[in-house]
Amino acid sequence: MSAGIITASYVGATILFILALGGLSNPATSRRGNLYGMLGMAIALVATISGVTANIEILIGALLIGGSIGLVLARRVQMTEMPELVAILHSLVGLAAVLVGFAKFMDPNVHFIGVELTIHDIETYLGILIGAVTFSGSIIAFGKLSGKITGKAMLLPARHWLNLGLLLGSIYLCSLFVDQSAAGGGMMPLLIMTGIALLFGIHMVMAIGGADMPVVVSMLNSYSGWAAAATGFMLNNDLLIVTGALVGSSGAILSYIMCRAMNRKFLSVIAGGFGATTGGGASSASAEDQGEVVAMQAAEVASLLNESKEVMIIPGYGMAVAQAQHIVCEITKALRAKKVNVRFGIHPVAGRMPGHMNVLLAEAKVPYDIVFEMDEINDDFPDIDVSIVIGANDIVNPSAQTDPDSPIAGMPVLECWKSGTTIVLKRGMATGYAGVQNPLFFKENTRMLFGDARTSLDEVFKNL
Ligand code: NDP
Repeated sequence: MSAGIITASYVGATILFILALGGLSNPATSRRGNLYGMLGMAIALVATISGVTANIEILIGALLIGGSIGLVLARRVQMTEMPELVAILHSLVGLAAVLVGFAKFMDPNVHFIGVELTIHDIETYLGILIGAVTFSGSIIAFGKLSGKITGKAMLLPARHWLNLGLLLGSIYLCSLFVDQSAAGGGMMPLLIMTGIALLFGIHMVMAIGGADMPVVVSMLNSYSGWAAAATGFMLNNDLLIVTGALVGSSGAILSYIMCRAMNRKFLSVIAGGFGATTGGGASSASAEDQGEVVAMQAAEVASLLNESKEVMIIPGYGMAVAQAQHIVCEITKALRAKKVNVRFGIHPVAGRMPGHMNVLLAEAKVPYDIVFEMDEINDDFPDIDVSIVIGANDIVNPSAQTDPDSPIAGMPVLECWKSGTTIVLKRGMATGYAGVQNPLFFKENTRMLFGDARTSLDEVFKNL
């Protein structure tokens, strides 16, 4: 392929990536957005491979191995494991940036002098730095999301000073690296900085606790974009620079949206310490301290629903675990056929990844026009006859509003307790991701339907 055709393909791929992002901003157009993204990536891959002249067999071998691993993993992964898969994929982008950085630094064919050398060195240094933070941070995020590492915040004493020290150390090492590189060396400061960046990534994510993980997941998404852009600079690949910048900036916007949804300040989340369980307060009281819960049977739930006019369904992580979205859709259809107004209330951090619930409901073909964001429907709860909370916990926890000591204090929640009756579907009295007890379960107008959400809803559907 000639250089002109490759450039034209890159421009085409870039346009498709931008259209993909536009499509993904709305559930109704997200499928089309995904198709644009796939097409853009296919064009980008073909154009890039066709520009390679040497060692093509190694490239094809690597593509086959990487592609096969990706295919097997994607086929095997359960919907509930998607967030972990995304986190581990981010770590690979970071690792690639580190490896490309070292390869470029050691490449005997790269000859720069003067200002060009300094610019090249700073590119390499930044690429490795961002890549290493993304790599180790994403691995810890993977551990936290999969439950292999505790979700609680690990707060080292003087952690902010430690972070500041690591930052200043990295700046000092950068100046050492640039100086030594001009004299033909520089490997030692580069290696020490890589170690520091790896430590920083671990420390940064370990310090995030409770319900603040969504911000970290979207932030690492953004970092992986900047790492890819840095790799693009090192490889002189315009498409990689543009694509990386698109991922980096859209991830940053998503982090901002998540912070707003959680009522958190972005900088404070990054500095760590939010979500630390402070003890005391209603949120940390055990289930026994809070009073009695009242259980209900599926048949009673069905007759309550039959008598209602307004129903709000609030899905959470447990709906993903139980894979209950299809039966939820059947129940919705049955109730709508009986002229019951059924709506869905979606919390921005419900589940384990941004948009998790929207993806599940779209998969089950729940109509988009009855699915509402929290801000759109939170004032409507006093008019709702029955709210059904399906495997959700933190996102409907009133202690976020009432207990300033709670790790989720200040986080906006769906105020379902203001509806006539709230029915909560869960298996037992376990806490949610943030590890706090939920006073909602003990309220007078709350009824618990214990059991796996899908089994319980099957039963409700039969009785409807
Ligand atoms: P939670 O994790 O707070 O609660 C889920 C509840 O589902 C649990 O209490 C569990 O109770 C119940 N459950 C689990 N399996 C089943 C099942 N098979 N059937 C019925 N119930 C089940 O989920 P939410 O969606 O309410 O909140 C999300 C939390 O995750 C927030 O704290 C959020 O910050 C965090 N998070 C979100 C991310 C995102 O991007 N959206 C990323 C990372 C974290 P029991 O075991 O008793 O059944």
